[in-house]
Amino acid sequence: MTEFSRRVEAVSISGIREVFEAAGEDAINLGLGQPDFPTPDHAREAAVDAIRAGKADAYTSNKGTEELREAIAAKHARDNDLDVDPADVIATSGGSEALHIALEAHVDAGQEVIFPDPGFVSYDALTNLAGGTPKPVGLREDLTLAPETVEDAITEDTAAFVVNSPANPTGAVQSPDDMREFARIAEDHDVLCVSDEVYEHQVFEGEHRSPAEFTDSGNVVVVNACSKAYSMTGWRLGWVTGASDRIERMLRVHQYAQACASAPAQYAAEAALTGPQEPVAEMRAAFEQRRNVLLDGLAEMGLECPTPKGAFYAMPEVPAGWVDEVIDRGVVVVPGSAFGEGGEGYARISYATDLETLEEAIEIMGEATAAVR
Ligand code: PLP
Repeated sequence: MTEFSRRVEAVSISGIREVFEAAGEDAINLGLGQPDFPTPDHAREAAVDAIRAGKADAYTSNKGTEELREAIAAKHARDNDLDVDPADVIATSGGSEALHIALEAHVDAGQEVIFPDPGFVSYDALTNLAGGTPKPVGLREDLTLAPETVEDAITEDTAAFVVNSPANPTGAVQSPDDMREFARIAEDHDVLCVSDEVYEHQVFEGEHRSPAEFTDSGNVVVVNACSKAYSMTGWRLGWVTGASDRIERMLRVHQYAQACASAPAQYAAEAALTGPQEPVAEMRAAFEQRRNVLLDGLAEMGLECPTPKGAFYAMPEVPAGWVDEVIDRGVVVVPGSAFGEGGEGYARISYATDLETLEEAIEIMGEATAAVR
């Protein structure tokens, strides 16, 4: 009998999949974490042109093409007021790989990684895969992560903490003051802050700021991707930026596990980042409208839901049996417990679906709510 590594035995297949499988084929799917819009045409065309010209046949540099890394640096100057050297960028296979190499390069066996609970499922799994010890911490009542909670959780074994704003699964957006505090904590305690900013363009209230703006300590690495901003989840293109020595260590993992991000996707990403940004604003406006419709619907059902200020998820508190009842009636939502113990009693509803479908789903959720009360 083959033995499996303890690291991989500590990880299970995401609970989100089980929910999809439990629902029928005709179910309305409010479980998905991907925008329902097409990838902008100019990004698609750039990839097709690169393929036709034979530019995408070979490996690129391990870090990604020079042009893409320049586009990523320019994006950080434009959107985040961050001065990023293109040499300090690794293009990755989605934000997922960026998170993976960040933890793999910084976490030793037995070291702790602090992250929000409920939080994105990868933080716990990738910590385990790196041999570290997951340290989930609870949220404020508005579902944001309090900097003092992170600071209190830091011990001499802490390697890193993860900040995710706007957040999956809560839709919470951290304030600029919080982000400044996270930067200070990373600096004062000399631990790594991994800032997962993949939803940065889906902010409806407040503003997105990166902790990296507030410190020169080199203790913040920023993870981002084209996936959510440009509706490019299938292209698998993300990146990580940070201090040169950190990039060099992450590159060691990336180089051997991945070689380089997919070349056609790199050309598409370059075009997405440097081309017209209107599609980003259009998607943001559509998400905001849907969010408002969903929030009105939840309020009418009498479900408490902290106002999600970003991403495309709402996380209401729900009565016992609600999620099963909703799924039985043909609407897929994800139980909050799939995102950690702190998610017990909540459900994650994704509104990355058209308004008409969302309204139909709201009606069904209303009936389910009445049935379980
Ligand atoms: N970070 C968060 C918070 C996410 O929700 C996701 C995807 O759902 C990712 C990272 C990974 O994104 P990608 O599809 O670019 O790998």
